[in-house]
Amino acid sequence: MRSKQTKYIFITGGVVSSLGKGLSAASIGALLESRGLNISFVKLDPYINVDPGTMSPFQHGEVYVTHDGAETDLDLGHYERFTSVHMSRANNFTTGQIYETVIQKERRGEYLGRTVQVIPHVTDEIKGKILALAKNVDVLIVEIGGTVGDIEGLPFLEAIRQLKLEVGGGNAINIHVTLVPFIVAAGEVKTKPTQHSVKELREIGIQPEIILCRTDRDLTLDIKKKISLFCNVKVESVITCRDVSSIYELPLLLHREGLDERIVEALNMWTAEPVLGAWEKVVHTVKSATNRVRIGIVGKYVDSAESYKSLNEALVHGGMANQAKVDIEYIDAEGLTDQPAVHDRLEGMDAILVPGGFGKRGTEGKIEAIRYTREHSVPFLGICLGMQLATIEFARHVCGLVDAGSTELTDQPQHPVIDLMNEQRNVSGLGGTMRLGAYTCVLANGSLAGSVYQCDQVTERHRHRYEFNNTYREHLETGGMRLSGLSPDGKLVEMIEIPSHPWFLCCQFHPEYGSKPLKPHPIFAAFVRAALDHQRR
Ligand code: GLN
Repeated sequence: MRSKQTKYIFITGGVVSSLGKGLSAASIGALLESRGLNISFVKLDPYINVDPGTMSPFQHGEVYVTHDGAETDLDLGHYERFTSVHMSRANNFTTGQIYETVIQKERRGEYLGRTVQVIPHVTDEIKGKILALAKNVDVLIVEIGGTVGDIEGLPFLEAIRQLKLEVGGGNAINIHVTLVPFIVAAGEVKTKPTQHSVKELREIGIQPEIILCRTDRDLTLDIKKKISLFCNVKVESVITCRDVSSIYELPLLLHREGLDERIVEALNMWTAEPVLGAWEKVVHTVKSATNRVRIGIVGKYVDSAESYKSLNEALVHGGMANQAKVDIEYIDAEGLTDQPAVHDRLEGMDAILVPGGFGKRGTEGKIEAIRYTREHSVPFLGICLGMQLATIEFARHVCGLVDAGSTELTDQPQHPVIDLMNEQRNVSGLGGTMRLGAYTCVLANGSLAGSVYQCDQVTERHRHRYEFNNTYREHLETGGMRLSGLSPDGKLVEMIEIPSHPWFLCCQFHPEYGSKPLKPHPIFAAFVRAALDHQRR
C-alpha cells in the first residue's frame, strides 16, 4: 500500500526531558506498520557532538550500533525493537554533523561566496537529510531530540516548520509529547506546562495536530477539553499516554486512545485496519510469566539504567521466550575485591552477565566474578569486554598464565591474550579505530553456540578495538576452552565457550542490539533458559 507522497510525522517534546518520546515514536511506527504501511524513522539530535560514540554512557545512555556500523542514539534501538525497520548511519544525525557538512561545503566554495547562515544554509542541509530518507516509505517519522525551548534545537524546529509548508497540508503533522503532572498538594493534574510548551512551539510557527500527554493517570474529558482549548488541538487529538509497567504495552495503549486513527486521518491516508495480535501476545506473555529468574549484571555503569538499554530489553525478551520475569540486578564490579566478596554478592543469582565496556576501572572485579561463575557452574554470558575478561580469567587461572591481560587494561602484560590487531596499531584519535557494525561469524559444529543459534553462520554487530590474540589460541584450547565462533577467514575469534561448564558462552559482538520482543534473540532466550535450569538444580 504505497501512497505516492511520503507523509511526515514530526515528533517534538516539551516541558521536561525523558518523557519517552523515543518510545512514543517507536510505538507510532509499530501501529502504522500494523496497518500495512511502510515506515522509517530519523532521529535528529541537537547536540554538537558529531556522534554519540565518544560520549559517556553515564551522560548519554547507551550507544546503539547499527548494522552499517554507525554509533547512534539509543532511540534507534527502540525503533528497531518495535518495528521491522533496519536503521543505518543515515537515520540519526546531530547538529555537529550538519555544521561539519556546511563548513566543508563553505571551504570548497560551494556557497559561491555568499554569507553562510543558519537560515537557509543550515536548515537546507537538515531538510536535505530528511528528504533523502523519504524514498520508498509511506510515512517517515522524524523525532527531534531535546525539549522545545532549548537553544540548540531551534534550527531543527525551523527546518521542520519549512518542510511542512513545502510538502503541504495533509502530508505532514506535528505530534507534541508533553507532561501533565499530578500535583499532590492541589489534588489535581495540571495542564499549564503543556499550554506553555505548545505556546512556545506556536511562537516559532509550529501548530501541533496531536498532543501526547504523559501522565500517571487517565485524563478526564474536562482536562482534555481544557488542553484542546488552550492548545488549539481537537479534543479527540489530545491523547493520554499513561505510565505503563512494560514498555511493550505502549502500542496497544496508544491504539486504544485512538492515536493511529487520528494520525491516518490527519495525514489523509486510507489504510487497512490495524492487526495487533502479535502485540497482544507480547503483553500477555509479559503479564502471565510464571517463572522468575535473578540475573546479575556485573558492570561499571550500574547507576545509570540507560547505559545498558538494549541489554536490559534483550534480557526481558529472553524471559518472554521462557515465560519468565527476569529480575536484573546491577552489581558494581569495584566492590568485588576477592572471592569471599564475590560469594557474598553473587550467591543466589541464577546467572551472571558481564557486558561490554571500556577502560580498566572495575575489570579486576569482573574477572573475579567470572572466576566464581566458572568454578561454581553458574550460567555465564560474556559480551565483548565480558568475553575478553573471560579469556583473561581462563588464561590466568586455568592455563597458568598468571600475568595474562589485555593491552587495553595493562601496560605491556606479560601474556597479552587480548590485544590490538596489527592493522589497528597505527590508528590514532578516538572514535575512528573500532571494529564497528555487522560481521559474519561461523559457528563450530556441535558447539553450544551452534545449538543456541540452530544454524552454522550468523551476522552480529560489533563495537570494539581489541581482539582475542591468536598467539594464545592453542594454549587456551589445550586448557579446555572452545573457540566456537570464528570470522569466515578464521582469523578472528568471535565466540568462546567452556564445554565442561553447564552454560558458559561469550561473544565478541553485541547480540543485544538485535533482540526484539516479537523475536527474542536466541542467545538471550538460551541464557534465561540456562538460568532457570540452574535454579531448579
Ligand atoms: N574495551 C574493549 C575493546 O575496545 C571492549 C569494548 C566493548 O565491550 N564494547 O575492545
